[in-house]
Amino acid sequence: MKIGIDIGGSHIASGLVDKNGKLISKESRDINISKINDEKRVESLIIEIIDNEINILLEKNDFTRGDISKIGIAVPGSPKDTKIRNLVNLHIKEFDLGNKLKEKYNVNVKIKNDGKCAGIAEKKYGSLKKYSDCVFLCIGTGVGSSVFLDDELLEPKQNPGFEFGHMVIDKEGRKCNCGKNGCFETYASMKRFKAEAISAFDMSIETEAEEVQKYIRENINKKNVKDFVDEYLTNVSIGLSNIINIFEPQAISFGGSFSYYCDIFLPILKEKIEKLKFNKDTKVDLITAKLKNDAGIIGATEI
Ligand SMILES: [Zn+2]
Repeated sequence: MKIGIDIGGSHIASGLVDKNGKLISKESRDINISKINDEKRVESLIIEIIDNEINILLEKNDFTRGDISKIGIAVPGSPKDTKIRNLVNLHIKEFDLGNKLKEKYNVNVKIKNDGKCAGIAEKKYGSLKKYSDCVFLCIGTGVGSSVFLDDELLEPKQNPGFEFGHMVIDKEGRKCNCGKNGCFETYASMKRFKAEAISAFDMSIETEAEEVQKYIRENINKKNVKDFVDEYLTNVSIGLSNIINIFEPQAISFGGSFSYYCDIFLPILKEKIEKLKFNKDTKVDLITAKLKNDAGIIGATEI
């Protein structure tokens, strides 16, 4: 039995996964570091949360530590070997989490970028199963991604790569957290989408994402809402057309909070992309991710 761990910007989720990629049981905790300034204390908090979740998972499912055959971790940033690196939201520059857990549980621990883990799960068990050349795009706060050609995940040696979120689509565009201007992420991010919807439709600053979505769905035929969505998707389509023209994927699967809008967004995107494709005969299916929030955990056990 394998354990998959998904470290996000504000939560850590762990799950028990069987040999067929099925998530048997899952635990998730928020990680609040707003009052912690010390990197070392954040590190021990991460270990504490993971330890607590694993103990509960084992107890709940009548397993012992000896039953764990492997631990896999999905994490943002640029993990390398057993180290997690550049976790902006958790203020971690570099931390050897893999070795810490290896010592504790005496099992093999593997770490990979979360966009790659989720893509691996979608490719093996989810929406991308039948495609050999395909792209997974997780559009949430940021943009995570993975690319498969001929059924293989493309993996550069130096860093996880495929930072589509930081592909510039407007050289004089919006300022990005990475320091550049006009990165795809500053236009495609669902965090930005929500913030701009709140301002465009005069909503309260505290409006929840679900309420924003409800409003957009109910008013999608009104001109101002239609134009707002159209402008957002025009920007997304520019980024997507770059990806399509470079990799010629047979399909792109969308995960993250973007996926909650796929039924409205994908038909519009499809139309826009038709006009931006270099090779007019390229056929690309735009589809919704299947494994939702579990993709990172499941994919982490496959690395
Ligand atoms: Zn950027």
